[in-house]
Amino acid sequence: MGCQHYLVWSVFLTMLNQHCDCVECDRLWSDYKAAIQAAFRLDNKLSIAEIRHDSAVVATLTPESREAARLRLALRLQILNHGAEAHGHSAMN
Ligand SMILES: [Zn+2]
Repeated sequence: MGCQHYLVWSVFLTMLNQHCDCVECDRLWSDYKAAIQAAFRLDNKLSIAEIRHDSAVVATLTPESREAARLRLALRLQILNHGAEAHGHSAMN
């Protein structure tokens, strides 16, 4: 996944987020944005290591990158679940 993907997502998320005024939403969204940034940084580092054929760094970063992607997805699902349960949203269903 490249830059463009994250950029599109963050614009989309900001638009969605504007409709909500809820402490739990704020917490989930700020966690999610932090997770997106962390995953983005890891993916960048991993791409650079792959280009350099730095197998030690790739071996270290690959599980970290997977974990960051997993966390990002988990938070996205939490946001959707919270939106559906607390606010009756059915975004992206
Ligand atoms: Zn909420």
